Amino acid sequence: MEDITPQIEEFRLQLACRCGCGSNRTSSEFAGMLYFAQGVYGKLFTIDSGARCPKHNAWLGGDPDSASLYGEHADLAFPTPADLFLGIKALIGAGFERFMLYPRHLHVDRHPKWPIPRFAWANYPPKIKKEV
Ligand SMILES: [Zn+2]
Repeated sequence: MEDITPQIEEFRLQLACRCGCGSNRTSSEFAGMLYFAQGVYGKLFTIDSGARCPKHNAWLGGDPDSASLYGEHADLAFPTPADLFLGIKALIGAGFERFMLYPRHLHVDRHPKWPIPRFAWANYPPKIKKEV
């Protein structure tokens, strides 16, 4: 069996923080699962976002405890609804269980504190802000 560790590591580099800081906490396991899903999907994923440093996550308005801070997150953009379907199918086949659908991308994560399967559109259910 061919050792694909170098390919997974090369793929993992695409999931580095986009602010220019050079950090990349993406785990090899997360990258490997995503790389496998990409192979099943049959085309290259368009990765909008991967791991983030705390500063960049805050600048983007990400959740303060975002999975991106743990390197267990990717935002993937798909060009058509058919691609989105095939992408989701491949990701589920690869073992991913947490999805959030945004207008311009599909968020997929393996948040270490939230091992609960989900598929939802962004901001569902709405967060109730408590009045101070
Ligand atoms: Zn950064």
